[in-house]
Amino acid sequence: MNPQTPHSPDVELLTRLGFAPGNPLMTEPRVLVDRSFLSRLRTELDETLDADTAHRVRSQIGLFHGLREGRRAVSRARDDVVGGVVSRPDTPSIAMTLLARGGCDGLEIHGEWPHSAEARATDHGGARNCVLAAGYTSGWLSEICGSTLVAVETECRAQGQARCAFVARPAEEWRARHDAEVEQFVDSLPFETFRTLLRENSARGLGLGAEGHSPLGATPWTAHVWGPVMVLPFQSSVTALRDLENDCGIRVVVVDLRTAYTNGLEEKSLRASLEKFLDHVSSWGVESVLAAPPPAVESLLPELRNGPHVARPTLPEAISTAFQIAHANRSGA
Ligand SMILES: [Zn+2]
Repeated sequence: MNPQTPHSPDVELLTRLGFAPGNPLMTEPRVLVDRSFLSRLRTELDETLDADTAHRVRSQIGLFHGLREGRRAVSRARDDVVGGVVSRPDTPSIAMTLLARGGCDGLEIHGEWPHSAEARATDHGGARNCVLAAGYTSGWLSEICGSTLVAVETECRAQGQARCAFVARPAEEWRARHDAEVEQFVDSLPFETFRTLLRENSARGLGLGAEGHSPLGATPWTAHVWGPVMVLPFQSSVTALRDLENDCGIRVVVVDLRTAYTNGLEEKSLRASLEKFLDHVSSWGVESVLAAPPPAVESLLPELRNGPHVARPTLPEAISTAFQIAHANRSGA
């Protein structure tokens, strides 16, 4: 972590759970709307954490995405104005309909999430179920309006209501209402810490686009399963394959090749183990996307058995492609 980044237990916990700011899962917008991802995320967090913490983590994942996308939308709009160009505005990844009362200054925005993706991914909705969407919307609206607005869900499909609806108001207005549950939600959103992180990322030229800064390249990391997509480092293939064998929900595996050479494999043995690995993957009817192959591996790709293989130059692009393949498979099924 950057030494200038303020010490934050929230960021530490997110990092431990595989959601470090800059991790591709914090820059890939499909994770916000993929029903099986949302469902698995919820199950995993509920199994790992107490209910309040799981709730908090989901809202923070949403907030980070919302702030990041809102910042990008504002900065692109500004570039367009300066350049005299009017392009299609950036739309939020979580679709929302908005009815602003008094505009951004009147500070009360009513809206709904017409797709209710988070509610549809849940079979048991508690009160204020859709906190990832609420966190996302809080971040997105805050950046668009240039203030700190918090969106609180007021109706939810997961509780049998006709829609998922929310009201967004300034954080201090929510606090003045003395609703303990809402105050807890407002306090769970680390706006300033996340804004600092996003500013640092843009100052370091890491941008606000889909290509985030990944701290993963420097350290070994374990396999992660997100809905239909599993990301795993090639070098831990033996363990990862066992995980995969036990999991029927995975449709696409992203094989992270960034560190493929760090374990000192010769070309011949690298090719043999990569082929063996990809053969295993395809024998389970799971597709693979190869991420960030170093040049030495890239030159091997055309020679691999069972090719051609889909490869992408960066991990975020590979994850994005994997989600596209998973979606295409589902709609084609
Ligand atoms: Zn809902």
